[in-house]
Amino acid sequence: MARPHHPRLGFDFDVDVCVIGAGLAGLTTALEVARRGWSVAVLEGGRIAEAASGRNTGFVLPGFAESIDAMVERIGLDHTKRLWALSEQGVNYVRRIIADNNLPGVDPVPGWLHVHQTDEPDRVRAAVERLRWIGADVEMWPTEQVRAELASQRYFSAVHCRNAFHIHPLNYALGLAQLAVDAGCRIFEDTPALAIDPAGVRKRIATPNGRVRAAHVVFAGNVQLGGLMPSLSATLLPVTTYVMVTEPLGERLQQFVRYRGAVSDTDRADNHYRIVDGDRLMVSGRIRVWQADAGRFAGALASDIARKFPGLGRVEVAQIWSGTLGRTIHRMPQIGEMSEGVWVASGFAGHGLNTTAMAGDLIARGIVDGDDTWRLFAPYELVWAGGRTGAAVAQGLYWWRSAAAAAAGAVSRYRERRRLAKEERAAAVAAAGPVVPPERMPAEELATAPVASEPAVVDVPSGTSPEGQTERRKNRPKRRRARKGEPEGSAPPDAASSPESTTH
Ligand SMILES: Cc1cc2nc3c(=O)[nH]c(=O)nc-3n(C[C@H](O)[C@H](O)[C@H](O)COP(=O)(O)OP(=O)(O)OC[C@H]3O[C@@H](n4cnc5c(N)ncnc54)[C@H](O)[C@@H]3O)c2cc1C
Repeated sequence: MARPHHPRLGFDFDVDVCVIGAGLAGLTTALEVARRGWSVAVLEGGRIAEAASGRNTGFVLPGFAESIDAMVERIGLDHTKRLWALSEQGVNYVRRIIADNNLPGVDPVPGWLHVHQTDEPDRVRAAVERLRWIGADVEMWPTEQVRAELASQRYFSAVHCRNAFHIHPLNYALGLAQLAVDAGCRIFEDTPALAIDPAGVRKRIATPNGRVRAAHVVFAGNVQLGGLMPSLSATLLPVTTYVMVTEPLGERLQQFVRYRGAVSDTDRADNHYRIVDGDRLMVSGRIRVWQADAGRFAGALASDIARKFPGLGRVEVAQIWSGTLGRTIHRMPQIGEMSEGVWVASGFAGHGLNTTAMAGDLIARGIVDGDDTWRLFAPYELVWAGGRTGAAVAQGLYWWRSAAAAAAGAVSRYRERRRLAKEERAAAVAAAGPVVPPERMPAEELATAPVASEPAVVDVPSGTSPEGQTERRKNRPKRRRARKGEPEGSAPPDAASSPESTTH
């Protein structure tokens, strides 16, 4: 989609609302203020949606970065349900804006699958129940269903969210900006807000070549806000994550990734993927609390795909970039009025597509209509993010959790291999049919029965793991010395007739 230029601010003027930052939070706020008939200007230091809002993976999901359990613990069940409902409104807002305005190039595709790499169906079932209880439209997918859509032996059961979808985020942001302009909003690019005087009825915002006076100012600058308001910037932990798009994978992609919705396969803020342009994969992950050259992560992201889908073969990297999101200590967004006429909309972390929409709507309603629904976020105050120490701790925790999750996944796969080997052995024993002990054989059959020189060992497939072979040796019926009247080497009666007994 074409990216129109907006002018730099080169004069002084007055406006009802001045929004700082043209990411999704600032643009939604501006659109909703303008639609209500108030004058509004957006100051953007760079270009529209140049930061996280135009660089993300485009998953529009209900909920927040914080877990439901932690929310219930902190604010109680009813309050959690109300916040969850607002987060769903954020999802519906994005859907409605795209549909009502036929936004070009946004291409919404329904569904989100949160896949587990450990075999814990009870845990997934409990998560689904908890989500439903809070108001989410989710269902559990068993392992077979997941693997029919995503052919990876690493995957077990999943939570499927029907109300979620994915989009082209930059085109959505550009569409939003155009709607705001059409509604009367003025957007200024290359216009950083350098200083602010928030006292008094009219706040004064200085930029390199012009000044704005406004009754309300909205800080929607995310982690780039920096020195404009250091006390606010210090409440966000900048987290950089990397996004890669493969070269076209042709028809082979269809053999491994049939699901068209969005996929996340960890509980953390990384490891997400989806199909783009029909046969390419977009993959994100490898979070860092510092910025690094994105090219360094191309190999790592490509090998993440190879580990999940070894049969897919080598994937070539077509594009890679990074983006930085802002995370709060409580993992919930910062939404509301800090002092009279001074508003904040930030800290959306990796859940910004729905929550920026929700925040923009809440703040516009707060400013213009006096609606104080935003106060539901009051328990999540501005909390210092811990500076460098906080960042180091967060990175350490991320690495530690990644390693723990990898180990838990390996244990689940090992257990699955053992179980399958046992089942194969049991099936083979059952297929060989029951062995009738000689004392129960009819006399005429006994007379014609061949005398076995080896125990009745069934040729059991050993499965793929070495431990399968150990089991097999362990469970082979023991050779016994023939008793009188008993064919030499025949298996003890119950050992061969019960599948269980051959497997333990
Ligand atoms: C790689 C990546 C993948 C992600 N994937 C998803 C996803 O799939 N789903 C999801 O829900 N969320 C995702 N997110 C998170 C989501 O993108 C963000 O939470 C959201 O875009 C934040 O929007 P924002 O408007 O608050 O901030 P930003 O998009 O960062 O915008 C802030 C803007 O403010 C401007 N600004 C700052 N200071 C000033 C100033 N002093 N003067 C003028 N302008 C200023 C900046 O230049 C910037 O353009 C992802 C984030 C990243 C980085």
